[in-house]
Amino acid sequence: MIPKIKRTLTAILPVDKNRTGECNGCGDCCKLPFRCTFLKDTSDGKYACSIYKVRPPNCRKFPRSHSQWKTVKVNCGYRFPDIKITVEVP
Ligand code: SF4
Repeated sequence: MIPKIKRTLTAILPVDKNRTGECNGCGDCCKLPFRCTFLKDTSDGKYACSIYKVRPPNCRKFPRSHSQWKTVKVNCGYRFPDIKITVEVP
């Protein structure tokens, strides 16, 4: 539940500009940590949001960051580049 609260509180922040791709309707983010009551099954085996036009910012912007994306990266249509940590040696 803590990640959901954090996701809601940080939804005012901008979407990471390194994000690419698009939503493929897998619905994984709508099941964190439990299935959203507004999530509906579609006839093609995917999902649809029944309040899509008025969905809250935390849903509208998901995945806003690399750390959010990591929780759904197997099926999510969005992508983030690998994070590389470089250490400068003086
Ligand atoms: S996990 Fe990604 S692809 Fe799946 S519904 Fe959420 S934003 Fe869309």
